[in-house]
Amino acid sequence: MFVKKLILLFILCSNILAFGQASITMQNTYPTDYFGSPLDIPLVLAGTFAELRPNHFHAGLDIKTQQREGFNVCASAGGYVSRIKISHWGYGKVIYITHPNGYTTVYGHLQKFSDHIEAYIKKQQYKNESFEVQVYPSASELPVKKGDIIALSGSTGGFIGPHLHFEIRDTSTEKTINPFHFGIVIKDSKRPTITGLVGYSLDSDSQINQANIPLQLSFKKLANGDLLADKINASGKIGFGVNAYDQLDNASNQNGLYSLELLVNGEKFHEFKASVLPFTEDKYINLLVDYERFEKTGQRIQKCFIEPSNKLSMYSPSVNKGYLTIEDKKSYNVEIIAKDFSGNTQKITIPVTGKNDPVLVRKVLVETPYKINFTQFNQFSKDGITVAFPKNTFYEDLWLDFEVKDSLVKVHYPNVPIHHNYTLTFDVAKYTDAEKKQMYIAAINKNGRASYESTVKKDSIFYASTKKLGKFTLLADKDAPNIQLHNFKNNQWITNHETLKVKIFDYKSGINTYRAEINGQWILMEYDVETNLLTYDFKDKIFTDTKHELKITVTDNVGNTNTLNATFFRKI
Ligand SMILES: [Zn+2]
Repeated sequence: MFVKKLILLFILCSNILAFGQASITMQNTYPTDYFGSPLDIPLVLAGTFAELRPNHFHAGLDIKTQQREGFNVCASAGGYVSRIKISHWGYGKVIYITHPNGYTTVYGHLQKFSDHIEAYIKKQQYKNESFEVQVYPSASELPVKKGDIIALSGSTGGFIGPHLHFEIRDTSTEKTINPFHFGIVIKDSKRPTITGLVGYSLDSDSQINQANIPLQLSFKKLANGDLLADKINASGKIGFGVNAYDQLDNASNQNGLYSLELLVNGEKFHEFKASVLPFTEDKYINLLVDYERFEKTGQRIQKCFIEPSNKLSMYSPSVNKGYLTIEDKKSYNVEIIAKDFSGNTQKITIPVTGKNDPVLVRKVLVETPYKINFTQFNQFSKDGITVAFPKNTFYEDLWLDFEVKDSLVKVHYPNVPIHHNYTLTFDVAKYTDAEKKQMYIAAINKNGRASYESTVKKDSIFYASTKKLGKFTLLADKDAPNIQLHNFKNNQWITNHETLKVKIFDYKSGINTYRAEINGQWILMEYDVETNLLTYDFKDKIFTDTKHELKITVTDNVGNTNTLNATFFRKI
């Protein structure tokens, strides 16, 4: 535990870094001297803007905090705290500051807030009787000056290591913008690294080296550090993608690129740029990346062409959406350039010759009775199970693999991306009311592990709205959650304890709610989902008695409830 006290409240962070000019000239004019550093330690990054993550782009910078918590987090510029959110997952404890110049900065995974913000939010938590809370203070409530300490850095928000997540957003559109555009300079003398190249045949009669399937292509490193792929023969409509990362100085983390360009015979065909990211487009990352390959192999290929369903706006105007049409006997010099924000590049050159050879390798399409026309609503039922897909759930037409065997349901494959939730419904008329009460819909992952899917129960059906494809089943949770005293024993004197800690866990459906009281009054217990600990801070409330009755009630996702009563003694 790295609990530091906030002594320097309202005092300016001692060491605000002066940011220099950004090293790349930008078309958009972002102020480069307005925002200061959100931390008073040298900035070393674990993650960059628009870095590719599972199902989303990383919306800001992840700033390393030396594997520790408790560094001062400072207001990057003056303004007011416009939003505070505390949640078990996501950004954990997070502060949003709105600035008068039209931007909002975001500070996530905080350990705790500065005293006056902490007091403000605790008042809300006690009023709502909830640890998870979200408030939108007005402009006059929590004003901040540039450099004010607003919080201590932490690791809240689920299973993550200590770091500060920092974002800059356009206040009116809520689009996130690459913080590097605002003059934040992180030393980067290393060039990006391309680690994989894949060629794609993009219609039924196109081919690369006689194959009509995605093809991993080999390459070698040249003396100047760039890469040269083996010559390929191809015909028809094809495209390319690469796996690449960028390393900054002073850290070994593999971060995202700033841009990825594709040139054909010297002409720029395609460019992806990590400048501005609208949250509404987040899901299209599953079309930018070769989703199937990533799910199967972990290799994250970024495609240099734009498929018809891909509405991502992070591309510059392209020629033919980045597709190449290879004609017989013609030669093409294809270059892909990976670039970081400092302008370092690595280029891979792919020599292509047009050759109308016969196609020898094809992906076998398996037809099923369940044809998905992706632009329409599709619904199928089998043995008491119904799947209903709203239009545009999928990105293309396909034959759905939908099977029901005993109580195990297979809804296609996890390696196919989907854009919206769909509904999975189980007919449960054959079960008794007592059985139904304990049952829930569970998703079964690749390793056979079951996880609770938020189950809605209605008469004789259960349904779940989910974005997962793959296997599902019905399970029963007969056991109430576990509750264990953690840092004290029943009937113990604990006058010197600063906190009260209790461990809660539920093996099957998982914890839904918990409530803690001392002497009949609700107390705030912070829930850390990583350690399963509930923590109460004795500074929160004054109890005048010496004998205290603690009561904790925990309910799991099917409604099994457990209550623990304990007594402890404490002098004021
Ligand atoms: Zn982050």
